[in-house]
Amino acid sequence: MKFSIKLVLSTIIVLALALGFSGFYFVNYVFETSLEREVGQALDESSILSFAFETAALNVPLKYSVLPDSVVEEIASKLEMGGRSESRLLRIADEEKNVLYTSDGFTADEGLLPQTDQHTKSYRVILAGESYYVHTCVSINALDRILYLETMKDVTGVFTERAMGFSLYRKVTIIMLLTGMVIMLIIASLLTKPIRLLTKATKRMAAGDYAYRAKQISRDELGQLTRDFNGMANALEDTICKLEEEIEAREEFMGAFAHELKTPLTAIIGYADMLRSHKLDEEKSIMSANYIYTEGKRLEAMSFRLLDIIVAKQEEANLQEVPARELFVYLQEMFAEKKEMDIRFQYEEALVQVEPNLIKTVLVNLVDNACKASESGETVPEADGASTENVGLVEVTGEVVDDGYRVAVKDYGIGIPEEEQHKIVKAFYMVDKSRARSKNGAGLGLALCEEILKIHHSKLQIESRVGEGSCFSFILPAENRGNYEE
Ligand code: ADP
Repeated sequence: MKFSIKLVLSTIIVLALALGFSGFYFVNYVFETSLEREVGQALDESSILSFAFETAALNVPLKYSVLPDSVVEEIASKLEMGGRSESRLLRIADEEKNVLYTSDGFTADEGLLPQTDQHTKSYRVILAGESYYVHTCVSINALDRILYLETMKDVTGVFTERAMGFSLYRKVTIIMLLTGMVIMLIIASLLTKPIRLLTKATKRMAAGDYAYRAKQISRDELGQLTRDFNGMANALEDTICKLEEEIEAREEFMGAFAHELKTPLTAIIGYADMLRSHKLDEEKSIMSANYIYTEGKRLEAMSFRLLDIIVAKQEEANLQEVPARELFVYLQEMFAEKKEMDIRFQYEEALVQVEPNLIKTVLVNLVDNACKASESGETVPEADGASTENVGLVEVTGEVVDDGYRVAVKDYGIGIPEEEQHKIVKAFYMVDKSRARSKNGAGLGLALCEEILKIHHSKLQIESRVGEGSCFSFILPAENRGNYEE
């Protein structure tokens, strides 16, 4: 059952109970007050009648010392008609409670007589035929005789009024309940609108529309719920986007991996097939074996790089404080043999928080890439704006900055087109595939650098212009920066 219908039904039940009880109480109160008034009048009337009877008895001729039954009947019949258009209903009984006189139509039983004595008045409400009466009984003291006078007063009107009151109240209650139901339906529909909007949003999101948000139309608890729901939807959408990006990246990786495997494998299989199925002269055999060897080596290098990336992805941050100088000295020694390159180092002393072996791998990769990009006799701009021919200049710098310690590797080589710059950190991505392969590249070096820098809570910044060179930099977390002392 719908929540709004439940709301309407429960309100109607409460309303019906409230109206029912209040109506019953009100009509009954009016009835009891009227009945009380009628009883009071009936008792007054019977007192007046008994007084009239006693007065009439005083006028009886003196020849009777005791009031005879015939006189009692005479007085009773006079009282019955006395001064009224319709006759009174009365009954007279003697001391022994034997009935002496009964009016026509006096139908009440004698149940009240035994309860009444000389000093008490009694009454009851009775149903006789289809009419209700107040039945009273009082004693009369007439000429040394104790008689009992019973009267019946018709109070059917009071009961009819009560029945009419109940019937009217029932009609009013039904009309009020119907009106209340219509009003409550409108109110419930307005109150539950935020819930309907939330349900709609949930269904849209379940159907894959993650950007859909529920409209907030109130500032109450339901409005808060809508806000929280939308907040949750935002978080969910972000997570789903990230997951989708990750899946896409993995698919791209798998595609590129398969492609990179295919090229050397095709060459290896082709040359191996040639060696086994043809009798080649010595020169061609050596050439074929050489191809197989170099392509095999490339595959081996590639698998090592991939392993490095997988290991770096799983690596826990185990950073230690290392003097920046240690890293630069290592690089200097590493590239000391590379005489055809002019690699310059300039760095500030500081303690950096790194995993030394991993950071050294990043630096070696960047300097290696810079050397590869410069290996064609590019020009280097001088301070005065002129440019001079150079075999290849690479500048490696380390400086203390606000956020930590910035390491930069700058070259004046071929540069990278702007639209390619964000792609080169992806695994297997090479700007110029044939050039990269000729230099034993597989497009995995920068992907490895990114993974290692992630462990250091850092990332690669790339600035590059085609034909002018590139600068690869990253910032390492550093402590005591700028005031390092040996
Ligand atoms: P690899 O060097 O093994 O090909 P990397 O991931 O290190 O793979 O580099 C990816 C590509 O980015 C390279 O193939 C090259 O095209 C480009 N690249 C990297 N560093 C530089 C640089 N300093 N100057 C120009 N291009 C670069």
